[in-house]
Amino acid sequence: MTAPLLRTKAALRAAVLGWKAAGESIGVVPTMGALHAGHLSLVEAAKAGCDRVIVTIFVNPKQFNNAADLENYPRTELADAEKLAPFGVDAIYVPGPAEIYPEGFATTVSVAGLTEGLCGAHRPGHFDGVTTVVSKLFLQTGADRAYFGEKDYQQLQVVTRMARDLDIPCEVIGCATVREADGLALSSRNVLLPADVRAAAPALHRVLRQVAERLRDDESFGPVTAQARAALHEAGFTEVEYLDLRAADGLAPMTRLDRPARLLIAAWLGGVRLIDNIAVG
Ligand code: AMP
Repeated sequence: MTAPLLRTKAALRAAVLGWKAAGESIGVVPTMGALHAGHLSLVEAAKAGCDRVIVTIFVNPKQFNNAADLENYPRTELADAEKLAPFGVDAIYVPGPAEIYPEGFATTVSVAGLTEGLCGAHRPGHFDGVTTVVSKLFLQTGADRAYFGEKDYQQLQVVTRMARDLDIPCEVIGCATVREADGLALSSRNVLLPADVRAAAPALHRVLRQVAERLRDDESFGPVTAQARAALHEAGFTEVEYLDLRAADGLAPMTRLDRPARLLIAAWLGGVRLIDNIAVG
C-alpha cells in the first residue's frame, strides 16, 4: 500500500504528534525525489532502526547554484510513491515551496569550515541551502534519527556538524554508497547522462580505486592524482573539479595516509556533474 502523501506542515505535525504520544521513534530520509536503489537503501536502514519512517521529497531551490540544473532536475513523484510502497513507510512528506520558504523567509543556516573546500568551493551557496532545508526538515519531522548517504560525503559531515552545533536532537546516520554493477554510484542525475558517454562514467570510481591503491603503496599524492586526472580526460570527462584526499572525520586536507582518509572527486561528463568518494586507509 502506498503511504500517505502529506503536503503541509500541519498534516505532518498531526501525524508526528500521534507517534510521539505513543512513544514511537521516528526516522527521516530526506531526498529530492527521483528515487533509486541508493535512496531505498536509506529507507531500509530507517525501517530497521525506527518505529516510524518519513521520507521527504523536496527539490530545494536554495541548494541549486545553477538555474538550468534546478530546471532539469528529474521530478517523478508518482513513480517515487510506487517505489516506496513495498517498504511500508509511514508518510511521504512532499511540501510545496511555500511550506518550506513562506513569504518573508529570511533565515540561513550556515556551517563554516567544513563547507569551504570540495563541492563548497565549486557550488557557492549550495551547503547553506542544504543546511537551511535539512534543519527545517529535522524540526518539522521531529525525527530521532536521519539517514544520509556516504555518496554525498561532505554533505554527511556538514549535516552531522549542523545538528550537533544547533543541539537538534536528531542522530545523523551515514549509509554506504549503492552502485551500479559497473561501479558507477547511483544518482538521480545519472538519467541525464547522454547515452554515448554512459560507458565512460564508471571510470570515475575505477580511478578512485586506483589512486587509493597507489597511495596505500606509498606513492606520492601529486603525481598519482595528475595521472588520474589525465586518465579521466582520456576517458571523455571534460573537467575534473577536484580530486582530493581528506581526513575521514573533519575533512582536513591530507597528502599522506597517516589517519583514516576519504578520497573525493567531482568531474563533468556529457554536461553532467558527477561526484564520488571512497574510504582509504
Ligand atoms: P538526493 O535525493 O540526491 O538529495 O539524495 C538524498 C539522499 O540519498 C542523500 O542522503 C544522498 O547522499 C543519498 N544517496 C544518493 N545517492 C546514493 C547512493 N548511490 N547510495 C546511497 N545513498 C545515496
